[in-house]
Amino acid sequence: MTEEKAKPANFIEKIISEDLASGQHSSIVTRFPPEPNGYLHIGHAKAICLNFGLAQQFGGQCNLRFDDTNPEKEDEEFVQSIQDDIQWLGFQWSGEIRHTSDYFDQLHDWAVHLIKEGKAYVCELKPEQAKEYRGNFQTPGKNSPYRERTVEENLELFAKMRDGGFEEGEAALRAKIDMSAPNMNLRDPIIYRIKKASHHQTGDKWCIYPSYDFAHGQSDAIEGITHSVCTLEFSDHRPLYDWFIEQLPVPAEPHQYEFGRLHLNYTMTSKRKLKALVDDKIVAGWDDPRMPTISGLRRRGFTPASIRNFCNSLAVAKTDGIVDIAQFESFARDDLNQNAPRAMCVLNPLKVVITNLTDDHYEELKAPYHPNREELGGRVIPFTKEILIDQDDFKEEYSKKFKKKFTPGKRIRLRNGYVIEAVDFEKDDSGNVIKVNAILIENTLGVDPEDGDKPKGVVHWVSADKGVEAELRLYSRLFTSEAPDKGGDYMENVDAQSLKITTAIIEPSLAKAAPESAFQFEREGYYVADRYDHAEEKPVFNLTIGLREDKSLTQA
Ligand code: ATP
Ligand code: MG
Repeated sequence: MTEEKAKPANFIEKIISEDLASGQHSSIVTRFPPEPNGYLHIGHAKAICLNFGLAQQFGGQCNLRFDDTNPEKEDEEFVQSIQDDIQWLGFQWSGEIRHTSDYFDQLHDWAVHLIKEGKAYVCELKPEQAKEYRGNFQTPGKNSPYRERTVEENLELFAKMRDGGFEEGEAALRAKIDMSAPNMNLRDPIIYRIKKASHHQTGDKWCIYPSYDFAHGQSDAIEGITHSVCTLEFSDHRPLYDWFIEQLPVPAEPHQYEFGRLHLNYTMTSKRKLKALVDDKIVAGWDDPRMPTISGLRRRGFTPASIRNFCNSLAVAKTDGIVDIAQFESFARDDLNQNAPRAMCVLNPLKVVITNLTDDHYEELKAPYHPNREELGGRVIPFTKEILIDQDDFKEEYSKKFKKKFTPGKRIRLRNGYVIEAVDFEKDDSGNVIKVNAILIENTLGVDPEDGDKPKGVVHWVSADKGVEAELRLYSRLFTSEAPDKGGDYMENVDAQSLKITTAIIEPSLAKAAPESAFQFEREGYYVADRYDHAEEKPVFNLTIGLREDKSLTQA
């Protein structure tokens, strides 16, 4: 496995080191708090690597908490996929899975506590009016006419909210802070709203749900989170986070720290937009290999190590940044180059008949899976009189430009096999070369020809009779535009050619590969046996990514 590189400490690591050194904390607790309203994407992977990584690095713990305060958009399918993705990435949360909904009773009691302290009130402004009262960046807000209700009245009305006595939008519980605060989040934010929806964890127990802001910090406090790490858009919410922690009799005082979100060009990191691609059937599902979801990347053939290495290479900074997707892809290549077994697959087959072999010639050639990783073992490649090479490796006439190609009178080496020399070829009526006759040069397995006429090129090949037909799914970037969701309609930037399905001939060992095994198809690219559809009887491989530009890697 590629080792994660040592980097200078980021600002959160520095804070943690200081907190441990000063005795502020004796150990650290972090959490990853996804909202189960979609599948996790590469941006979440950054947050996962950061939160779980900090816990590992400092010998602390990291909780998984489903931030499930929004029952209408949430789904059990998402709850399951999120767990699978985290474990696949190589992380394990501490103890049981937690849910914000586990704390609904406590949060409700704390809301009552605020009311009793005169710091929360039931507001009956209609949503439209409430918006108007809130003001904007230039204009301070106005106090709600319901702001001065008595504690008794508020307690009674909040109970009425909880008991279903109001319809959605008719009433909300608001914190009483400051309607003229420059930070709009402090203008009497809603802490409980009515939602007459069933919840995937709590069923129909509640028809009022806490807001993110009211739930998050208090959940952190309940779990003893020491460093609550989130993305920059929550910076403006931090004063509110701190306000609740100060006002309430919470068991601990967590702190929130914000870091920059990951944006990748040529894709989108927003569950809402990714959901639209799924709902509009632009892709086959959340785990379509063109999706930047963790499950999509998995199905595409990206390895957990490559995703972790990429995430760990990113700056954890106080600014957002756009990262070039090529950078991400290079991490995938590095990992696959080091770890993926090699095998042969011919995409555009051209038959080569080796005329000096008998019709029933059958020989088992042995080949290692990796040029410099003996421990990966090897496989047997059947070699027969008729083989297939790629059309592109044959040229009718010799030219300097194509001196490594197969051409009459010239020799090439069959990868992992013998040297052969082309004699002549046949064409079909449209002028396409359909067959090449060649002779095998004796005693050239692993050694140069005795006559000194060395082959210039090496080609990949498959036995024509023993090779197996496979479906190849050739994926490329889903979007043609670098910033698909900037301005305009991102649906218009979808590349209709981003999936091409073709058939190819693979060496027999590949058909037996387990789903999700990754290979370098020599001279072609990195491929993975499809997680769901690959079977020995019907092999299916997905293109993960092309080979790097450096050709030396793929030539003998
Ligand atoms: P989205 O906008 O895609 O719905 P979100 O922030 O609403 O993302 P959550 O489920 O609330 O998604 O996120 C869980 C955690 O992952 C949060 O702490 C969030 O800050 C973090 N996160 C989400 N997107 C990114 C990203 N692009 N880069 C880094 N961290 C992210
Ligand atoms: Mg969110």
